[in-house]
Amino acid sequence: METSRKPHFVLVPWVGGVSHIVPMSDIGCLLASHGACVTIITTPASVSIVQSRVDRASRQGAVIAVSAIPFPAAEAGLPEGCERMELIPSPAMVPSFFKANKRFGEAVARYCRQQDAARRPSCVIAGTCHTWTLPMARDLGVPCYIFHGFGAFALLCVEHLYKQGRHEAIASADEPVDISVLPQPFECKILGRQLPLQFLPSMSVGSGLMQEIREFDVAVDGIVVNSFDELEHGSTALLEAAAGKRVVAVGPVSLCCGAPSLDPPRRDDDARRCMAWLDAKKAGSVVYVSFGSAGCIPPAQLLQLGMALVSCPWPVMWVLRGADSLPDDVKEWLRENTDADGKCLVVRGWAPQVAILEHPAVGGFMTHCGWGSTLESVAAGVPMVTWPLFAEQFVNEKLIVDVLGIGVSVGVTKPTENVLTAGKLGSGEAMAAEVGAEQVKRALERLMDGGSEGEEMRRKALELKEKANVALQEGGSSYSNLEKLIESSV
Ligand code: UDP
Repeated sequence: METSRKPHFVLVPWVGGVSHIVPMSDIGCLLASHGACVTIITTPASVSIVQSRVDRASRQGAVIAVSAIPFPAAEAGLPEGCERMELIPSPAMVPSFFKANKRFGEAVARYCRQQDAARRPSCVIAGTCHTWTLPMARDLGVPCYIFHGFGAFALLCVEHLYKQGRHEAIASADEPVDISVLPQPFECKILGRQLPLQFLPSMSVGSGLMQEIREFDVAVDGIVVNSFDELEHGSTALLEAAAGKRVVAVGPVSLCCGAPSLDPPRRDDDARRCMAWLDAKKAGSVVYVSFGSAGCIPPAQLLQLGMALVSCPWPVMWVLRGADSLPDDVKEWLRENTDADGKCLVVRGWAPQVAILEHPAVGGFMTHCGWGSTLESVAAGVPMVTWPLFAEQFVNEKLIVDVLGIGVSVGVTKPTENVLTAGKLGSGEAMAAEVGAEQVKRALERLMDGGSEGEEMRRKALELKEKANVALQEGGSSYSNLEKLIESSV
């Protein structure tokens, strides 16, 4: 392709979370590996996360520019450096974060308009909540795609909920809502309280902002998803029809640079320790446990989970967030029952998740069903034990367990609080342990005990791994979707 005719994609990942910054950086790497020019714009606190992904792709010849534009946290009343949502000290500051994000958007728009003709964007891919990208793209006369961070199945459920309002018909949050969006036999129901955040009665971002975000979602020109068509049971095409816009599945993006890197954004020593620990374990024997980049479960629940993990017969690698703020008795219990070398390794830093899932020793993944983790597990062929916390994770659980048949549900029915719902789910109840240690162990056994149920899930997971790899190879569905996206942006 002639350099002068190369389309220039400008990607602005949602600044709020690592789990948006990582896959959008990988999408940038994929576009560059297909010959497009790419610029990824982020904030100073997150630039190293983007750069670590980009450096891997650059070693394979891709050329990607990374720009860090200041995030005016202090101006909006946030602590200096508060540039991601997990850094917000209190839920009351969530609106300030969105205020700072608006000003960040003004600076990004100025930056894009000032580029000379050769660096002018030809397509913008916006992170979710970056509503300001749409007027910017319109002004530049280029298409604006959105990356929500959800899979197509969950986005389809969300679209149906908005259009059909089935959630409005329930009298209480304990009642089921029918979210069946796929043809028979895939019936799907979740409880009112398990609905994605935008359908919960009150949140710390407020209804005005939610409305603005929805209007943005409706107005964009297309949706880019980290998924592959073969995984979605037709959801991609159904979403295109329901949303009335192009849906481009380009994943699994974690496979963008071949073998997983051992360079996580921070704590290289932790990463090496994890891999050395896995090297000493038997193939398929380890349960890897993680609740994503920010997920914390309440202390009482954590104790029940811990008791199951230390007493089950399999070695466990457990990524634990927020361990420093746990009550003293839970800290004490962890000190006495987990250790660095033996049965249950607790990782307090940033685990190299993609590399861990790819390691032959890992036989199962206990996950919060975040879409990034779900897809990384699929790409590695690892079946799951599902423990959704909030947002669209209960919907993802349905896909994993009921549609794809590659996971066992622990049986959580109540969402866990997070910075967007803190204090709004019914305080005392939200802190209690819903799932006992025995229940957790039963779910682990179903997946890990070598019986026919677990082995069938393993077989299906390995089949999907194969399909995931084919999707990104020349002629595969995600490969072709990327090519078409680039062609349509020239
Ligand atoms: N992740 C990681 N190491 C950790 C925790 C998380 O690499 O210790 C990565 C994980 O591989 C995934 C992302 O963080 O890419 C989490 O995204 P997901 O959508 O699963 O969940 P979220 O963090 O949004 O809840």
